[in-house]
Amino acid sequence: MATALDDLRSALSAGRASISTDPDVVEGYRRDQTTIVAPGRPLCVVAARSTSDVAATLEWAQRHRVPVVPRGGGTSLAGGATAVDGCVVLTLDKMTAITELDPANELAVAEAGVRNAELDRAAAGHGLMYAPDPSSFEISTIGGNLATNAGGLRCVKYGVTRDSVLGIEVVLAGGRVLRTGRRTVKGVAGYDLTSLFVGSEGTLGVITSATLRLRARPAEYPRTMTAAFGSFAAAARAVMAILAARLSPSLLELIDRATLRAIDDYRGLGFGDRTGALLIAQDDAGGGARPVEEMRAICLAQGASLAEISADEAESRQLLEIRRLAYPAVERLGRALVEDVCVPRTALAEMVARIEAAAATHGVPIATVAHAGDGNLHPVFVTDPGPDDLPEPVWAAADEVFSAALELGGTLTGEHGVGVIKRRWLARELGEESMAVHHAIKDALDPAGIMNPGKLL
Ligand SMILES: Cc1cc2nc3c(=O)[nH]c(=O)nc-3n(C[C@H](O)[C@H](O)[C@H](O)COP(=O)(O)OP(=O)(O)OC[C@H]3O[C@@H](n4cnc5c(N)ncnc54)[C@H](O)[C@@H]3O)c2cc1C
Repeated sequence: MATALDDLRSALSAGRASISTDPDVVEGYRRDQTTIVAPGRPLCVVAARSTSDVAATLEWAQRHRVPVVPRGGGTSLAGGATAVDGCVVLTLDKMTAITELDPANELAVAEAGVRNAELDRAAAGHGLMYAPDPSSFEISTIGGNLATNAGGLRCVKYGVTRDSVLGIEVVLAGGRVLRTGRRTVKGVAGYDLTSLFVGSEGTLGVITSATLRLRARPAEYPRTMTAAFGSFAAAARAVMAILAARLSPSLLELIDRATLRAIDDYRGLGFGDRTGALLIAQDDAGGGARPVEEMRAICLAQGASLAEISADEAESRQLLEIRRLAYPAVERLGRALVEDVCVPRTALAEMVARIEAAAATHGVPIATVAHAGDGNLHPVFVTDPGPDDLPEPVWAAADEVFSAALELGGTLTGEHGVGVIKRRWLARELGEESMAVHHAIKDALDPAGIMNPGKLL
């Protein structure tokens, strides 16, 4: 391998990429944020600074049959960016240029390593926003967001990452550079190759830059409404009523009883045992307080014991902060496996009942938060700290939860991706024909099977 590495160094010498085999550096790139996947030992880490660095690495990798694990911020919760033995971890996090910001056409061109929040801040200077907002927005990258088709809190109004991408530049296995899509909002020439790469989890190529759609930024910070309910089912009914009233909330989040208890223990907010669920809603349309007041009225009519509206921006941010406390609060209880099923929103209450049943049957604490407007639930399985793999009861509970999501007409993953964790369930959701088409696409674009092997498929 020493000769192969020398070969890689000379392949990269024309660009500005750095390559490291230092054990301390390599150790820092073995894992992502998934707590339960045993990572492999990489051969080296390449930090690309340009598309040509990426192309040179992929050409070299194909020649030497070396696996490549593309990496952005390393915030994957599905094990997508965990290293495999003998791989090159190819990190894009030094490719951080926003090369264009075009307010008239409401678009930006950003390199893959730009942090999501960085792009949104740059857009804000022109009265625009980059709408996809995963909770990891300060630390995850545009490339990683595209590769996982990330969602976020604003999805209920603005859609997922796929809805904000016009085109990409992607380096294919072997080093060819492909440009997909266009700069126009409309355009139907050829197959939709952009969508093929969005959500492909680094298994088909390495995204180096993207042309992204920006939208008008709300003139003021949205008002927030919070409502406390005795049960999750009652809160889910309120969600359906708000959506049926066509109020178009820009955020609609639900927090279950187990999570509220954890937040109480963490910050003493005093929800107590009687609060079975907390609904948090925002409206960013700028039409005054009327939409959130209507949401509050709906919640009270649906049995909310308490419903409040923020008085000013500071209070609005504070109320939303309760949602952001969910993960840190639950993580204090033990090792957390953050899951990500999505069901038709009419099935939200039934899905939570099935999650609670799985928790009781297998004796595994599960705390759930939901992007309720999308039917996207994050059941967080809590287990003791331990070796990388999970205890069998947690897998059994997870199996029950995933099976329930599929039975209810939903999916295994709304936004985090399949990664390593959900491969064993994928065929159950997709079926034989779809799996065969997936493998045919993978074989066509990555015949040597070296692009992020062991992930997704
Ligand atoms: C606290 C926290 C909150 C989160 N909240 C959300 C949320 O609200 N919504 C959500 O959807 N996710 C969320 N996530 C999960 C995670 O942040 C997203 O999946 C994110 O899109 C990953 O981006 P990243 O840059 O960290 O990519 P990484 O974790 O580095 O990689 C993710 C996947 O993309 C591939 N990849 C990365 N860069 C490229 C590239 N340039 N080209 C090709 N493939 C690439 C990797 O190989 C891997 O398969 C959260 C994670 C954390 C830790």
